[in-house]
Amino acid sequence: MAKIRVWIDPRDNCISDMVCVSICPDVFEMSPEDNKSQIVEQYRKDGNIAEGIVPEDFKDCVEQAAAACPVQIIHFEEVAE
Ligand code: SF4
Repeated sequence: MAKIRVWIDPRDNCISDMVCVSICPDVFEMSPEDNKSQIVEQYRKDGNIAEGIVPEDFKDCVEQAAAACPVQIIHFEEVAE
């Protein structure tokens, strides 16, 4: 089954408006460290807070979050895994 690779880049450009978190809280959360968006721990790729592999079920919400992010730093692609 396909999965979705999602990454936040450049993460430093996040303006912390929480739009992605409100649209797709299963995938995105705000970091308590720097108050920028990060991938929830469960789906992080190799522990990277800015990159994750998520079930295809979340494709719609990831897509909506990417479209809504005001600084356009959320990216995604389908991967075969
Ligand atoms: S929508 Fe974009 S700018 Fe807003 S918190 Fe998420 S990554 Fe940051």
